[in-house]
Amino acid sequence: MKARNFRYIRPRSLAEACRILADADGEAVALAGGQSLLAGLNMRLSSPRLLVDIADLPELRGQSYADGTVRLGALTRHAELLSSELVNKHLPLLSKAAPHIGHVAIRNRGTLGGSLAYADPAAELPACAVALNATLVLAGASGERKVKAEDFFKGLFETDLRPGELIAAVEFPAVPAGTVTGFAELSRRHGDFALAGVAAVATMQSGRISETRLVYIGCADRPKVAKAVSQAVATLRPPFGDIGAIEQAVKRDLSPEDTPGLRGDTRVHLATVLTRRVLNEMSERVAA
Ligand SMILES: Cc1cc2nc3c(=O)[nH]c(=O)nc-3n(C[C@H](O)[C@H](O)[C@H](O)COP(=O)(O)OP(=O)(O)OC[C@H]3O[C@@H](n4cnc5c(N)ncnc54)[C@H](O)[C@@H]3O)c2cc1C
Repeated sequence: MKARNFRYIRPRSLAEACRILADADGEAVALAGGQSLLAGLNMRLSSPRLLVDIADLPELRGQSYADGTVRLGALTRHAELLSSELVNKHLPLLSKAAPHIGHVAIRNRGTLGGSLAYADPAAELPACAVALNATLVLAGASGERKVKAEDFFKGLFETDLRPGELIAAVEFPAVPAGTVTGFAELSRRHGDFALAGVAAVATMQSGRISETRLVYIGCADRPKVAKAVSQAVATLRPPFGDIGAIEQAVKRDLSPEDTPGLRGDTRVHLATVLTRRVLNEMSERVAA
């Protein structure tokens, strides 16, 4: 299938892009890397009348570090998360997650802002943004506002973006010393969306994990901090062999539904095994 006819415009500034989107009465969508949008148009899952190409807007580019915060422009490509020294140094979780996003061609075009705005619960970057306690900078015709990642994701492919708003940048608190991060996922073939995955940020004290932010991929309608799992983990000591307590907590936090080809219970089991794997890997790194 091919997309329905649409008009195409390339605004010269962020303000102009927001104005065009706001004036279009829901008939326009932003085009960034096109890796999700264009597939959806070709399958006629949506038929906007106007595509607003934001891929060249300088206001959405750039990476910077100041006062313990890393700011990444919305147009930061997935591939840049692997090559950026700033990201590798201060946000290693993003560098660990990025190789799992599709294939090289997709990572060369797809953008951070596009992934967060699309809000696919099986995507890696939304989960990482919540685990890292990121803040999204949203630009609209009437100015800028900031929203915490955990408040931004509202449900399946649903976000807090208002008509005419764009994600301009994402601000991540740099991961402090003494905090470790881990990432694991399982997919049927490399490059496929994950059946289950976990992004983890943990603080270790005296060989014990004192605090964790674990966010699961593909196991709920949106990325959210798994509070019951964090509590269960805080009572355990590495190595994490007995997964019964973690499995019960995963069930309480996520309760995934059966989907074609995968039962909810199987997804809970996969999430539990990945949790154990990532916790052990982080503990071993700290011990070494
Ligand atoms: C074969 C294939 C495999 C893939 N596998 C994975 C995978 O394993 N994991 C994964 O996470 N992703 C995967 N993707 C999707 C990929 O990561 C996309 O790049 C990403 O989801 C969207 O980014 P984009 O820049 O391409 O956005 P686009 O496709 O251009 O846009 C997606 C949506 O976001 C909106 N949007 C884009 N930028 C902004 C912004 N700055 N502000 C507000 N709204 C915006 C658009 O209007 C549109 O609604 C895959 C894609 C393909 C084609």
